[in-house]
Amino acid sequence: MSALDVKQLTKTYKGGFQALKGIDLTVDEGDFFALLGPNGAGKSTFIGILASLVNKTGGTVKVFGEDQDRTPELVKSFIGLVPQEFNFNLFLPVVEVVLNQAGYYGIPRREAKVRAERYLKQLDLWDRRDTEMRKLSGGLKRRLMIARALVHEPRLLILDEPTAGVDIEIRRSMWTFLRELNARGTTIILTTHYLEEAESLCRNIAIINHGEIAERTSMLTLLDRLNTETFVLNLKGRL
Ligand code: ADP
Ligand code: MG
Repeated sequence: MSALDVKQLTKTYKGGFQALKGIDLTVDEGDFFALLGPNGAGKSTFIGILASLVNKTGGTVKVFGEDQDRTPELVKSFIGLVPQEFNFNLFLPVVEVVLNQAGYYGIPRREAKVRAERYLKQLDLWDRRDTEMRKLSGGLKRRLMIARALVHEPRLLILDEPTAGVDIEIRRSMWTFLRELNARGTTIILTTHYLEEAESLCRNIAIINHGEIAERTSMLTLLDRLNTETFVLNLKGRL
């Protein structure tokens, strides 16, 4: 089964700017998938639509076989999102950020506490559970957002530039965590500017440019093609 099956997805923002021009994309269940592309390519728009935060203009989105328009709540329950930007109450203590999200999904308080402890421990944040979110470094904030995204135990985790501006040590700890999560069965899609991040983590990739899929291939094939000079230049221009 496909984790994701998107057909002819379009997005035109108010004002008429067409950010997505008919995206066709499937991602297999269990895959670790990278969506690469330059600033403004449409990555966050695409992810926002998957996560039901942005309304699409046209096309269909199926997640684990379920149509987003027919069973929106089910599709939402399948997806965990680590957004590129987060602008909620940064004065909340770390543990409350996760508990609030559990509340959003209707998880009973007792179970929510068990899960908050589990995921904050996995992400090395349990010792800081009473710290206000605003006091965490950028990298720790990202790790907290991963714990938050996992609290309803999604089958598909989507991360929008999770390591942008994050120092190398925390970046590597996140990579290890994500690899293990994927090995235990969670499908992962991430967007990144860093080719070496996609290379280290992902089996398959798509390159999006000007709202269109420019490439859809395996990481190994891409690396192979990176050996040919013209394609290197081409890709560097894109990223
Ligand atoms: P990426 O994440 O790849 O950098 P985005 O999806 O954020 O790209 O943006 C794609 C394009 O859509 C950009 O040109 C951006 O300016 C435009 N865009 C994004 N959000 C909005 C919005 N709310 N209203 C109008 N245009 C937008
Ligand atoms: Mg973006």
